[in-house]
Amino acid sequence: MRPAALVRPLVRSLHAYVPGEQPKVRGLIKLNTNENPYPPSPKVLAATKAAVDGRLRLYPDPSAQALRVKLARLHGCGPENIIVGNGSDELLALAVRTFTEPDVRSDREGPAPSVATVQYFSPSYSLYPVLADTHGAAKNAVPLRPDFTLPGVAELKRGKQWDFKAALTFITTPNAPSGRGYATTDLDALCAAMRGVVVLDEAYADFAEEHALARAQKHPHVLVARTFSKAYSLCFQRIGYFVGHPELVAALDKMRDSYNVNGLGQVAALATLGDLGHYRRNFRRIIATRERLRRELTGLGFEVLPSRTNFLLMRPPGPPAQEWLRCLREQKILVRWFSAPMLSPFLRITVGSDIEADALLESVRLFRGTGRKP
Ligand SMILES: *Cc1c(COP(=O)(O)O)cnc(C)c1O
Repeated sequence: MRPAALVRPLVRSLHAYVPGEQPKVRGLIKLNTNENPYPPSPKVLAATKAAVDGRLRLYPDPSAQALRVKLARLHGCGPENIIVGNGSDELLALAVRTFTEPDVRSDREGPAPSVATVQYFSPSYSLYPVLADTHGAAKNAVPLRPDFTLPGVAELKRGKQWDFKAALTFITTPNAPSGRGYATTDLDALCAAMRGVVVLDEAYADFAEEHALARAQKHPHVLVARTFSKAYSLCFQRIGYFVGHPELVAALDKMRDSYNVNGLGQVAALATLGDLGHYRRNFRRIIATRERLRRELTGLGFEVLPSRTNFLLMRPPGPPAQEWLRCLREQKILVRWFSAPMLSPFLRITVGSDIEADALLESVRLFRGTGRKP
């Protein structure tokens, strides 16, 4: 008997999510997965280290109560409005399982039923289609405008592809990997037109000028996703959360694992909330580096999209983006390239520290200046 024959046909047909590389190469400048270049604050490191003792034998708080109370205070809501996850990725997966049905049609022809539809704009976070597939839900990927701006409600109605009744719609805002911010008024109009659950995935909101958290307080069918990973330098600890209506939060809560959020992560996130000034200074530094990098790369012939995040999407001059990827890699600078047709002419580069930005600019000038074919 072949073990693979024991696996559900749906699972056999899946393609695993491809995350950005995490190579352990010495001296590598890692600008490929939007991590924060600055470490967690000294207070967060001290609190986390202090929690490493005999208590590791105990289960953590199953509902991350202290963290939810503190987050509720920060956002002006109640703890019943908040669910914490093992990174926001876990919560995005829970949302798919909580709000959408698997698509059980045998032929899968024609438009899928709305109750079985996970909807999102393309391009946006590449995890959404993977989550829909693992659940057996149908995917409705609707293109953004060619300049990656958000289509308006009337435009979506005319286009006919957008499903206003989709059980679950993910909107990455500001968007990844384009970096574009969406105006809160536009998001509000879109949310108001939707009949299913809408998740506004705000992984990069701290680098933007506005955020849409109040949408989750205004519309009962809107959830806002946040994470400590990017802005709060805690990718390693896996802490994300949703803010939304208590009835949606309670539904998600039934679907999660009993101890889904690890104890040291809870400690680190709590300490982070006690030291927000430190992080706000980091946001300002990263935004300043981002704008300098955008100016200088534009001067070097790159077509750089405006960004409200901690990364830049750009069309490099001369050789194809994939060649630039290879050449920068030779210089020990790792950036991200996506093969999707709308994205393949572009590179996505995480905004690192000023020193990393200078190293990137130096490599770019080298290729351009020597006329060496990258
Ligand atoms: C990084 C990222 C996430 C995942 O965050 P985690 O909390 O680390 O799981 C979710 N959404 C978007 C758009 C992201 O870029």
